[in-house]
Amino acid sequence: MPAHPLVPPNGGRPKSGQQVYIIGAGPAGLEAARTAALRDRQVILYEQAATLGGTVTLAARGPGRAELQLIIDYLQSELEQLGVELHTGVEVTAEMILAQQPHTVIVATGARTGPGLLPIPGHDLPHVTDVRRVLAGEPVEGPRVVVIDETSSHGVLSAVEMLATTGKSVELVTGDFYAGRDLAATHDIVLWKQKVFARASVRFPPMPSCWEPMNVHRRTSTWRSKGRSRASSVSAIASRRAA
Ligand SMILES: Cc1cc2nc3c(=O)[nH]c(=O)nc-3n(C[C@H](O)[C@H](O)[C@H](O)COP(=O)(O)OP(=O)(O)OC[C@H]3O[C@@H](n4cnc5c(N)ncnc54)[C@H](O)[C@@H]3O)c2cc1C
Repeated sequence: MPAHPLVPPNGGRPKSGQQVYIIGAGPAGLEAARTAALRDRQVILYEQAATLGGTVTLAARGPGRAELQLIIDYLQSELEQLGVELHTGVEVTAEMILAQQPHTVIVATGARTGPGLLPIPGHDLPHVTDVRRVLAGEPVEGPRVVVIDETSSHGVLSAVEMLATTGKSVELVTGDFYAGRDLAATHDIVLWKQKVFARASVRFPPMPSCWEPMNVHRRTSTWRSKGRSRASSVSAIASRRAA
């Protein structure tokens, strides 16, 4: 990616004189910007995407999860009132920061995605995708989808629900004793199960803990127990081609 000169801070509005550059406008970067502005710093926030919100904006695309976006809307309006400079569409590099020499730099660039299905032969086949791409609205091929849940998190279950809502027949495979472990902590598990069990198109294999990382294009029922796969920050979805 070619170097992009940082947009210089708005010189007409010095606060305490201390410039704080924040890289990344997910919830961490937005809240850091709000706090620094309240402490009278001159805050300049950079985000590589076109919009603010980071991963929360993606998570909020899941069915019934739109209210997550409220935290981003709130923080954005706070930053506008506090006079924080917001620059979207700028991918910041170390060279850019070194050239500008700001007083303080806060790196709030989020987490990198884990390897997910990478050890499994077939992970790179064209009909294999992942939760982020599904939530972002990328089409998934074929009427039948196998979701391999490596995280038991909200995101993968949102993807399951989203796929079922669009008419896919979904089979969820997990190394856990039951699907949706993380939802138990937030008391969302009952509601989620009521919603997905109401859909005939979502199926949980009878022994969901029995699967091994073999070939993602094999039938689910041929996967046999060999322990859990590596956990990762992103689950993977194997979309089987129509027979
Ligand atoms: C599908 C899904 C569902 C989730 N559901 C929940 C939930 O229900 N509850 C919950 O608490 N958490 C949930 N999470 C986790 C939550 O989204 C993250 O913990 C949170 O977004 C982390 O915030 P962050 O600001 O650290 O990073 P991010 O939200 O990832 O933001 C980082 C930002 O930095 C930007 N960036 C990166 N590099 C650069 C660069 N070089 N220059 C400029 N900008 C850059 C990125 O574009 C991004 O906007 C979910 C995550 C996923 C994936």
